[in-house]
Amino acid sequence: MQVITSREELRELHDTWRHHDEHVAIVPTMGNLHEGHLSLVKLAAEHAERVVVTVFVNPTQFGDGEDFEDYPRTLERDTRRLKTLQADVVFAPSVDTVYPFGIDNATTVSVPGLTQNFCGASRPGHFDGVTTVVARLFALVQPDVAVFGQKDYQQQLVIRQMTTDLNLPIRIITAPTVREPDGLAKSSRNQYLSSDEREIAPQLHVAIQHIGQELQNGKRNFEELESNAVDTLQTGGFTPDYVAIRRAQNLEVPDRDCDEIVVLAAAQLGKARLIDNIVVTI
Ligand code: AMP
Repeated sequence: MQVITSREELRELHDTWRHHDEHVAIVPTMGNLHEGHLSLVKLAAEHAERVVVTVFVNPTQFGDGEDFEDYPRTLERDTRRLKTLQADVVFAPSVDTVYPFGIDNATTVSVPGLTQNFCGASRPGHFDGVTTVVARLFALVQPDVAVFGQKDYQQQLVIRQMTTDLNLPIRIITAPTVREPDGLAKSSRNQYLSSDEREIAPQLHVAIQHIGQELQNGKRNFEELESNAVDTLQTGGFTPDYVAIRRAQNLEVPDRDCDEIVVLAAAQLGKARLIDNIVVTI
């Protein structure tokens, strides 16, 4: 496995792979890899002969006052973990490599509509940062396949939309959320939790699972289910951002006949902003 930082090295490898008719999968990450990320790498290896894991803490997707400076940067440890998997390359570019004209002069990519609500509403500019960096990583790596986690449900929908709209010849694959044994979705931000908060944290998953169960029991009072969950979270010590029951396909408000539902939630717990979701067929 090689660790590279320049576009020239990437181009050289890419030319060799193409020469051998090998397909390339990309797994974009911000590093500080955990089992969730590693599951994406394993899935990528099932869909392409070559796997490029990108490690880049993208400044443009962090808002003012968010944790860009504090975000854990652990490239050496990440590289050691990836060596045990079928990753061919770790691409860890500098900000200058990803944004050669500087961030203020960067061409940006924006997906309206899907980014208005939920994490898009609470984190203005976040999804523009995500689509802009993913478009750039796609252009640098030129993958055939890209793997994203279901944990960031809205994000993978936004990236699917961008890819379709720009006609990019890249297949987007969404990998299931990897959880701790108590149900908490694995996240680099879980390490911001105190031990007391860590005890409470799985209740976010419990709350959306409870909604999933109620939907499967035939309940269709979506707004009441959402607001009950918000109350429960608040009582439990969270500062809820949203709990939402939406169409899995496009995040629109479902009608009573909709069969594929996503239950999305985000809440602040101490210093950590936690998100989670489940997809239910009703
Ligand atoms: P991040 O490094 O947080 O930007 O995440 C990189 C990729 O890993 C994204 O596609 C995430 O959705 C995915 N990911 C993060 N946590 C998990 C998890 N617990 N299970 C599955 N995928 C995840």
